[in-house]
Amino acid sequence: MDRIIKCPICKKTVLYSVQNPHRPFCSEKCRLIDLGQWFEGDYCIPDDAQADDDYNQEH
Ligand SMILES: [Zn+2]
Repeated sequence: MDRIIKCPICKKTVLYSVQNPHRPFCSEKCRLIDLGQWFEGDYCIPDDAQADDDYNQEH
């Protein structure tokens, strides 16, 4: 049942089989990129770290 597909992210050919834990992606990296695209709209970086830096610089 193994098939050759193209990674949706980088278009590299990927073996779509149980041997590839990242299917349908070629790698974990592309899988995470795809997740990033899903969450891009709602995801925001917390300002806490930046606020701490400002605090330390002023005091
Ligand atoms: Zn890829």
